[in-house]
Amino acid sequence: MSLNEAWRQRSLAAVWHPCTQMKLHEPGGAALPLVPLSRAEGVWLHDHEGRRYLDAISSWWVNLFGHNHPAIRAALIDQLNSIDHVMLAGFTHAPVVELSERLAALTGLGHAFYGSDGASATEIALKMSAHHWRNAGRPGKHRFVGVAGGYHGETVGALAVTDIALFREAYAPLVRLADTVPSPDARAAAPGESAADVAERAADALERWLAEHHESTAALIVEPLIQCAAGMAMHHPAYLRRARALCDRYGVHLVLDEIAVGFGRTGTLFAHEQAGIRPDFLCLSKGLTGGTLPLSVVLTTDAVYAAFYDDEVARGFLHSHSYTGNPLACRAALATLDLFEQTDALRANVLTGERLAAQFEPISKHPRVRHARRQGMVFAWDVASSLPDFGRRYARHALQRGALLRPIGHTVYAMPPYVIDEAEGAFLADAALQALHATLAEEDGHAAPAADAAWGVCDGV
Ligand SMILES: *Cc1c(COP(=O)(O)O)cnc(C)c1O
Repeated sequence: MSLNEAWRQRSLAAVWHPCTQMKLHEPGGAALPLVPLSRAEGVWLHDHEGRRYLDAISSWWVNLFGHNHPAIRAALIDQLNSIDHVMLAGFTHAPVVELSERLAALTGLGHAFYGSDGASATEIALKMSAHHWRNAGRPGKHRFVGVAGGYHGETVGALAVTDIALFREAYAPLVRLADTVPSPDARAAAPGESAADVAERAADALERWLAEHHESTAALIVEPLIQCAAGMAMHHPAYLRRARALCDRYGVHLVLDEIAVGFGRTGTLFAHEQAGIRPDFLCLSKGLTGGTLPLSVVLTTDAVYAAFYDDEVARGFLHSHSYTGNPLACRAALATLDLFEQTDALRANVLTGERLAAQFEPISKHPRVRHARRQGMVFAWDVASSLPDFGRRYARHALQRGALLRPIGHTVYAMPPYVIDEAEGAFLADAALQALHATLAEEDGHAAPAADAAWGVCDGV
């Protein structure tokens, strides 16, 4: 038995893989093979037998500067020589202080509360918002509103604001569902309408909703500029400006979830900078540690912080996770921020983004592609295909050509690490195009278009 096969079998026997219908990994099935990896470096993931895959989706959007980056590795090794982990209640340490100071300087939000995953950041922001209103003498403001198609994580609290039926349906009795307002997704433009028009239309709907429900509403939660899990739905920053003004007018918190889009993905360090606004809560995770260790943070304002500062213990934010503010993760985050400065990454990404857009042109111009779009270092294409399992088939063809690409539904996208060079970009663009040809060729002779089937795996593969 090959090494790859041995690891595959042991994994399938012992590991329950995330967001996966495990039967789809059954050997010989119509499914995707599970890929055992031995090593990761730069944009490449290596298996045990000399094959490698270009990580074009940054391992679920977390990796920024390539795998196993020497600077982040060195910071972690150095940190292991002093403090590995210590509880953050009653104790503090240099990495968490320095990281909080630097994030405050970058965002203007001076109070940092840490969690371990994106979903825990969502939970923290929602709890903090409702508790703020309770402390402010407005206990009736405890409901939330999100944007259609929004994704904010999959713990039970976060599912309340995650508007993706496949992730939520089985748990409906457990979830106190939030309301949703229309998405500003620019693809909804009517003929003659611009992205800004769509944004204004969606903001009008938000205005009507807030006018009616603001008395019972604690917060609006939005993924700024790109609703990634919805299929890289992009919108005009005008929506965010209006949302900020409306939240101010109606006394509702604005929570921005930049778990996926933060740290340069959209072209600016944080997406909301492009709207010139500041949220009441900013949720960060994924790229925060450069993709090395789990860490999330909710940044908030002096005003929110002040509502909890009191002689009474129960008015404090009595929320914790065992690994809150883990020193190793904070050091990885500090090293990541250093890399932005040392490599002038945002400026470099302007050129990298343009170069990739040119390399992807054959896909963008493919007759079966609709809504080719880009925001910063995020590229997406909707494919006109009647295959209900388009994503899974496409992903398999891409893997066979050495690229990790997992479409969301019929949307193919790339969100590569920033270090992708010209040759790697050419390789990726070619693999992505060939996978498209192969998948569409399979469609010939395929049965009549099926209705939207449930995808086997969460991001559509
Ligand atoms: C991934 C993601 C989350 C959840 O983060 P996890 O670390 O997977 O819990 C929340 N919001 C957005 C926008 C995300 O992309």
